[in-house]
Amino acid sequence: MKILVVNCGSSSIKYQLIDMENEQVMAKGLVERIGIPGSVITHRPEGKDKVVIEAEMKNHTVGIKYVIDCLTHPEYGVIKDMKEIDATGHRVAHGGELFSEPELVDQRVFEGVRDLGRLAPLHNPASVMGIEATEEALPGVPMVTVFDTAFHQTMPPKAFLYGIPYNMYKDYAIRSYGFHGTSHKYVAETVAKEIGKPIEDLKIITCHLGNGASITAVDGGKSVDTSMGFTPLGGLIMGTRCGDMDPAVVPFIMEKEGFTPEDMNQFMNKKCGVEGISGVSSDFRDVEEAANNGNERARYALDMFIYRVQRYIGAYTAAMNGLDVLVFTAGIGENSITMREEICKNMDFFGITIDPEKNNIRGEIKEISQDSGRVKVYVVPTNEELMIARETKAIVEKLGK
Ligand code: AMP
Repeated sequence: MKILVVNCGSSSIKYQLIDMENEQVMAKGLVERIGIPGSVITHRPEGKDKVVIEAEMKNHTVGIKYVIDCLTHPEYGVIKDMKEIDATGHRVAHGGELFSEPELVDQRVFEGVRDLGRLAPLHNPASVMGIEATEEALPGVPMVTVFDTAFHQTMPPKAFLYGIPYNMYKDYAIRSYGFHGTSHKYVAETVAKEIGKPIEDLKIITCHLGNGASITAVDGGKSVDTSMGFTPLGGLIMGTRCGDMDPAVVPFIMEKEGFTPEDMNQFMNKKCGVEGISGVSSDFRDVEEAANNGNERARYALDMFIYRVQRYIGAYTAAMNGLDVLVFTAGIGENSITMREEICKNMDFFGITIDPEKNNIRGEIKEISQDSGRVKVYVVPTNEELMIARETKAIVEKLGK
C-alpha cells in the first residue's frame, strides 16, 4: 500500500509518499508560495537528485497537481501512474471535541474540519483546501484526516478545563486541547516498543522540544495532561511564543502598547519566548552560542526554558504518581546535547539521570540514562508523517482495500 501524506499550510503543501510494505519514504517535497508570485515546488525523490520547478500555482488544487506530476514523472517520478496511490493522509491542526480518532473523510468529517476553523483560523482552512484539492486530483481515492489534538482527547476534565465560568466552555468551546498529538503518540509508542514493554504498563513523559514545544504525560498509552492549551501558545517558553504567564499581563501590555487583540496575539506568538528574552534569535543553536560567549540575556532565556521543562516533568510525575520513561524529541530534543543534559541535571530525586557518554548523540533512537537510573531517559526522533501514514493505513484496511 502506498500512502501520500499531505500537510497543508495557507500557502504551502508538504508531502511524502510512503510505501507501507517497508515504511520507506519514496519521495517527499514542499510546494511554497501558493497564490503568491514565485510559487515553487521542491521535489526530492529517494535515490535521485532533487528537482526544483518554478511555475504559477494560484491555489492548492494547482499545487497538488504539480505534486502528482512530480510523483509520476518519467524521469524524477517514483511511481508510474497515480492509480498506485492507495490513500491520502491529511494532517489537520484542530479536531476540537468532535474528533478523538483519525477519520475517513466524508461529508460529516469535511464539514467538521471546516467548522473547527473557528478554533484554528490559520490552520484548518488550509486543510480544507488541501482535502478539496486532493479530492479533485485523485477522485475516489480514500482520504483520512489525522488531527494534532486527537491524542489529547483522553485528558480528564480536571486537566482540560480552565478556571473561568463553565458556560465559557459550553458556549465557546474554551478549554485546553493540546497539540503535537501525532508526535507525542508516535514517540510514546516507539519507546514502549524499544523497551519491549506494553505501553499500557508504562508512565511516560514525552518532551517535544522544537521551535514549538510541548510536554505530555502519557499514562498507560493515554494522554492525561499536556502543556499546550486552547492554542499552541500555552505551556513552555518557545522559540518566539511566550507560553504560560499571569493572564493579567495581557490587558496590561495591550494598554501600554495600544495593541488590538490581533496585535497582542501576533506579539505573543512571534515576538516573545527565547527570541524576545535573548534578543538574539529563536534558534537554540544561536542562543546557545551567544550564552557560551557570555551573553547574559541568552543565558536567561536558556535557563528559563530548562527550568520550565523541569517544572512540567515534576508536575506530570505527580499527575501520574510515578514515571518510568522520559523521552526527548523534535529539533532541540533530538539534537541539543547540552539542553538534554541541563534539563536532566538535579533531577535525581525523581530518578532521572543522564550518562554524558550515551547522551553524546543526535537524531537517533537511544537510551541516554545511567544504568542505575530508576527512570529510563530516551532520545526518539519523531516522525509525524509515518504516524499519519500508519493511521491512514489502519483505516483504509478496515474498508477492505
Ligand atoms: P523543529 O521545530 O522540531 O524543527 O525544531 C527546530 C529547532 O531545533 C531549531 O529552531 C533549533 O533551535 C533546534 N535545533 C536544531 N538542531 C539543533 C542543535 N544541533 N542544537 C540545538 N538546537 C537545535
